[in-house]
Amino acid sequence: MINDSVVRSDFQAGDEENDLNLRPKLLDEFLGQTKVKENLSVFIQAARSRKESMDHLFLIGPPGLGKTTLAQITARELGVDFKVTSAPALDKPKDLAGILSTITEGSVFFIDEIHRLKPAIEEMLYIAMEDYELDWIIGQGAAARTVRIPIPKFTLVGATTKAGMVSSPLISRFGIVQRFSFYTEEELASIIKRSAKILNVNVDEDAALLMASSSRGTPRVANRILRRMRDFAQVYSNGVITKQVVTSGLDKLEIDTLGLERYDREILLSIINNYGGGPVGAETLAISIGESVDSLEDYYEPYLIQCGLIQRTPRGRIVTDKARTHLGLEGIYDANQRLLF
Ligand code: ADP
Repeated sequence: MINDSVVRSDFQAGDEENDLNLRPKLLDEFLGQTKVKENLSVFIQAARSRKESMDHLFLIGPPGLGKTTLAQITARELGVDFKVTSAPALDKPKDLAGILSTITEGSVFFIDEIHRLKPAIEEMLYIAMEDYELDWIIGQGAAARTVRIPIPKFTLVGATTKAGMVSSPLISRFGIVQRFSFYTEEELASIIKRSAKILNVNVDEDAALLMASSSRGTPRVANRILRRMRDFAQVYSNGVITKQVVTSGLDKLEIDTLGLERYDREILLSIINNYGGGPVGAETLAISIGESVDSLEDYYEPYLIQCGLIQRTPRGRIVTDKARTHLGLEGIYDANQRLLF
């Protein structure tokens, strides 16, 4: 019954994810997101002392901010099993039933990208979350019938980059909702120093700060930049990551002072050059830069908005004067974003 491909024993993604050593294992090692951490610490302690499963937890935030990591930490701190999958991997209700039927008492079950659940699977999840029961289909074809079987109490952790796309019946079944924000430069510098220690590489203080300021508020990006700078330091200097190594390394990777990558700049330039500064819809914009709407909306846009370089309006995206200044395209524009002089 169980489809192994839908249950991941751990996160499988790019090279930075494969180095599981960098992933904090305990709440104390999880740096930043102070509010989320403080709240969660209370809920974990309370559940532990009552010897009950913790309430279902809903985590919202852009990719790479630590939602999966925090779900794993929650399981470890509660001292329970951890199962992980992502909504696109759940193709049929039996995929979900397969996982839920093997769940142990109090487990943490993490579903990533929960906004992409299929309706039939979402229905099944409602019953599991609320009544701790599972609709189980016996027999086939006309003889098929559904029986309800009880399952152990568990904690569902649902994560999404797009809270607006999650149905309200689903959201309302989560007792705890926590929203992640982008990390500050100081927090990212601490994460970089912690990772550098684990990777056994020396990093100067000002180099750590420079990497932090170029990491678009995101630990996953910070760890990725650290690894690349480690490569540059190994080949071009004596293995120590200095500010000079980082400055020239970022230049080689085409990452600018705000942490923008080539695609970020292409997005801004496309809005300016092709759409008179906007407004332009996400789909049109994604096509014009050859990216998917998902990566535009999930990865690029939140940081560009956070930096004040684009604004989302009901009619589409528009670039701001700050973006033009950053790109060295200063000028006076009319109400239609056309350059006057
Ligand atoms: P998400 O699930 O939100 O996409 P992840 O939990 O996979 O993000 O985090 C991406 C990587 O960033 C992890 O491998 C981890 O090493 C690192 N990371 C995330 N949050 C933190 C944090 N608060 N402190 C230290 N490292 C972190």
